[in-house]
Amino acid sequence: MKSLAVMGSTGSIGRQTLDLVRQDPASFEVVVLAAHSNVELLVAQALEFHPQVVGLYDEVAAKELRDLLGPELEVVTGDELIASVALADIVVNGVMGFAGLRITERTLRAGLRLALANKESLIGGGEVVMALLDKGGELIPVDSEHSAIFQLLGQSREVPPSLARLVITASGGPFRTTEAAKLELVTVDDALAHPTWSMGPKISVDSSTLFNKGLEVIEAHYLFGVPYEQISVVVHPESLIHSMVEFVDGSTLAQLSMPDMRLPISLALYHPGRSPVPHGTMGWPTAATLTFEEVDSGRFPSLALAFAVGKAGGGAPCWMNAANEVAVGAFLEGRIGWRQIFATVSSAMERYETGSPLDIDEVIELDRRARVVTSRIVQEFAHA
Ligand code: NDP
Ligand code: MG
Repeated sequence: MKSLAVMGSTGSIGRQTLDLVRQDPASFEVVVLAAHSNVELLVAQALEFHPQVVGLYDEVAAKELRDLLGPELEVVTGDELIASVALADIVVNGVMGFAGLRITERTLRAGLRLALANKESLIGGGEVVMALLDKGGELIPVDSEHSAIFQLLGQSREVPPSLARLVITASGGPFRTTEAAKLELVTVDDALAHPTWSMGPKISVDSSTLFNKGLEVIEAHYLFGVPYEQISVVVHPESLIHSMVEFVDGSTLAQLSMPDMRLPISLALYHPGRSPVPHGTMGWPTAATLTFEEVDSGRFPSLALAFAVGKAGGGAPCWMNAANEVAVGAFLEGRIGWRQIFATVSSAMERYETGSPLDIDEVIELDRRARVVTSRIVQEFAHA
């Protein structure tokens, strides 16, 4: 029996993690449930899973939760919430955005297994986060593309010398076939309507701009230690192949399953084994078509920007990630248009204050400065 801390338990990744626990209650025990402010769902989850601790990032919501649950169950916030990860064997980081960094940090410092969905903490922290693996912790990717590569490498992050490249697949998002002129007019609802995956709002918008794919390229670089020259992206609208590994002899291995995040989450929970319950079975021999296209860099310039930012290294990915979070937040609030997400991020990169953070505090400071700079750019756009 493994104990789990489900950080971001009320979100898309968190809820699917709890589904896996429901399916195999003999293998997992939930010891921590944490979210931002969704009191109602956290209460329901606490009553069902009986964790040792529940946490809310928002202090007002945490107080409300304490009043509702009474003294029986410990309710934490602030640093105690972050520290609660130490109660578990496996920490699922399903928090949205850079706020997940402290959870990633504390988990790795404690030498625990980190089931990482929260790509923003790895992209923001980069080498500083990877260096924390010295403490004996384990980093298992949950992002479906990286989970596919992890499986193709035999449930490992180590690439063989015969690797030619990693090929990351992209669904193309909701605007894959939208004409350039019409992209000017897309709404928040249009951007949230992902064709193959059902996810939280931030990553759904990232998928519509293809910044998600850009972030994933940087994520793959850190996770597998592969140079950017050996990472490619191909659009594969059916989302059945979740990524591929190509070898120097020309052979390509691909991982296929239906788009169901419970499979990559389960791999991180059962590693080095596999879930006894199927998730996303293909249902052969049902006919299926696999198609591939190149990314249209004219309509989706974010991918090339992310490659350039990744290659620049140092604090550049952290800066871009922060700028993107600010821009996506402004778009979701209706303050800027969809096209202005890219315009905001690229303009923020022009104002990048070069630097290489040496520890987590410096990463957080760099992220903070990028947010200040980007918020000014958003204001300029919003008032234009
Ligand atoms: P959601 O928006 O659905 O959920 C986010 C979760 O994080 C909620 O539980 C939210 O709580 C919680 N949260 C937000 N801020 C904090 C904080 N400061 N402290 C603690 N908890 C917080 O997002 P997703 O589940 O879609 O995505 C989560 C992460 O997983 C992202 O990094 C995303 O990129 C990644 N990912 C997601 C995939 C998916 O299929 N959904 C696929 C691949 C990666 P509350 O409900 O209270 O606001
Ligand atoms: Mg992904």
